[in-house]
Amino acid sequence: MSVRTDFDVVIVGGGMVGALVAALLATSPQTKALTVAVLEPHPAREPLASESMDLRVSALSRAAETLLRQVGAWPSIEARGVCAYERMMVWDGDAPASGADTLWFDAASVGEPNLGTIAENRSIAAATLACAQRAGVTMFHSALQGLTLSPAVAEVMIEGRVLRTRLVVAADGAKSPTRGFAGLCEPITDYPQQALIAHLTPQRAHGGVARQRFLATGPVALLPLADGRVSLVWSTTPEEAADLIACEETAFAARVTQATEGVLGDLTLSSPRAVWPLRRFNARHYSATRSVWVGDAAHLVHPLAGQGVNQGFLDARRLVAEIARALQAKEDLGDARCLGRYARARLAENALMGVALDSLYRLFTARTPGVGQIRRQALGMIQRMEWVKGLLIKRALGIS
Ligand SMILES: Cc1cc2nc3c(=O)[nH]c(=O)nc-3n(C[C@H](O)[C@H](O)[C@H](O)COP(=O)(O)OP(=O)(O)OC[C@H]3O[C@@H](n4cnc5c(N)ncnc54)[C@H](O)[C@@H]3O)c2cc1C
Repeated sequence: MSVRTDFDVVIVGGGMVGALVAALLATSPQTKALTVAVLEPHPAREPLASESMDLRVSALSRAAETLLRQVGAWPSIEARGVCAYERMMVWDGDAPASGADTLWFDAASVGEPNLGTIAENRSIAAATLACAQRAGVTMFHSALQGLTLSPAVAEVMIEGRVLRTRLVVAADGAKSPTRGFAGLCEPITDYPQQALIAHLTPQRAHGGVARQRFLATGPVALLPLADGRVSLVWSTTPEEAADLIACEETAFAARVTQATEGVLGDLTLSSPRAVWPLRRFNARHYSATRSVWVGDAAHLVHPLAGQGVNQGFLDARRLVAEIARALQAKEDLGDARCLGRYARARLAENALMGVALDSLYRLFTARTPGVGQIRRQALGMIQRMEWVKGLLIKRALGIS
């Protein structure tokens, strides 16, 4: 007996990942007949042309860009200003930037036009949500207030209403209230670091190069922005982060210049500063009765390789592919078989990424005698092994 539902799919959270799940479901030929709703109490708004680039930006992989193009969101994101970076330099805090052990990644070496693109988070979310809505997705500007998951139907509570659905997609970020309602809370590991973010104007042109230096306290990265500035992501101890955010602007800029060895000359602060906690998590369960978890609600990684939202976008792609497969096989899309296929594939892939990034974090922050030399030698060795660099580039672009 079929149960009456209000929507085939209800997505909780319309951040970048939830928005992409919605837009993919609404625009893919095999799934576009489904009725889809998104719950998002604070939907991102398209910024005005006069508004300066927001502090939160992401390095998007080729796979992520392709998905955003597929749903029709890319032109709006691009119009806002994106910066494709063709090269990336990585060096150890104890070695000079100009030394032989600096690791250079070059898109041209693998016949690719770039290594990724820096885009504004709020533009990505707003443009993708707009595409989803144009394709028929219903938006509720409401927060989830309760959830009942049963084999027959899932019930999603919002203020003054209960939505009955065949599938709940939880894209509600790191705090994920859906996990609590589903009784799936798990401990999240805090890194002893926080990320300080800001935009700065460099004295020398950034030249479309992403730069990252590994200091004893954590990595400091300068990502190129379309307007010529650079986006700083400085992961460091909570004490240093507090000190950096409180210090006077000129002193702050001088400290960033020094931390990045003056590779872009003197830097000038041109935005507010903000601090983010850094955490590590990979859920043991990506699915439960009539529900699945995607994006930060399922996994959190250190931002040192800019992979968090890229992983979330691959979750979205896989989930929509499994839903399409279930529909074709005349299976129920909230069925454990369909959700299990998604969960197994993405849990394993994200676990691998989590371990790899955590190992990099440990290697670069270790100050045990001898480790520094091994680290510098490893960077130098990879620099001389073009095929290894090629593999790493393809993996980071999501095209391997
Ligand atoms: C400093 C820093 C730099 C980073 N740089 C990169 C990078 O370069 N590249 C990259 O790939 N990743 C990067 N990341 C990671 C990336 O920012 C995240 O992976 C991404 O924002 C996660 O998106 P999401 O949609 O899963 O979650 P979120 O962006 O957290 O969205 C969750 C949404 O759910 C909504 N929500 C919450 N509770 C409820 C509720 N009860 N009901 C309804 N809705 C709810 C929220 O309002 C929110 O809109 C970085 C992270 C940090 C901290």
